[in-house]
Amino acid sequence: MEEIKKQDVKAFAYLDQINKEKWTASHDGGWRCGILTTNMSECINGVLKGARRLPVSALFEITLERTVHYFRVRAIKGQKMLQNNQLWTNFACKMFISWQQKAVEHTVTKYSHAQQSASVVTMLQNKHGMNTHVVKIANRECSCGKWNQFGIPCSHAQKVCGAYNISVASMVKDYYDLMAYNNTYSKHFEPAVGRLLG
Ligand SMILES: [Zn+2]
Repeated sequence: MEEIKKQDVKAFAYLDQINKEKWTASHDGGWRCGILTTNMSECINGVLKGARRLPVSALFEITLERTVHYFRVRAIKGQKMLQNNQLWTNFACKMFISWQQKAVEHTVTKYSHAQQSASVVTMLQNKHGMNTHVVKIANRECSCGKWNQFGIPCSHAQKVCGAYNISVASMVKDYYDLMAYNNTYSKHFEPAVGRLLG
């Protein structure tokens, strides 16, 4: 907030009146994980692209047609991911593996077994790194903020899970589960006879 105040006092005054739970990821208690809300709006925008100026009846037809296509393509994609024995969707797998590879370069110091807390120092590479992060597995948090933001344990958290012998896979939010993805897109639409409206 201090940074916003420095940039623009009016913007600060405006934002300061609004409950921070409503517009910040840092104060919402983890509800708005990642950019989930924005992604949902973008998803609907994507389906309706180019259809907004059509008459209402055409808008209904095109929305149905595109939604059917959207679900059909994802149902096939879900089956392919299942055949690949993936635990999570491609997005989550890619992020998890990339952080898993990074975790190898970190150094961990354990602090409290009860809190499963530790400090993690990143390796110095090309003048970057040598940062210290604090991980508290019991609270599902890391000071880098990525775990809270994406619902997937960051490289620091993965390193600490390893140090405490905790299954890191169980820390990934369940909405990335392939079963959840397949449950969503396994629903199908029934073809309709004739026009929808008119
Ligand atoms: Zn982290």
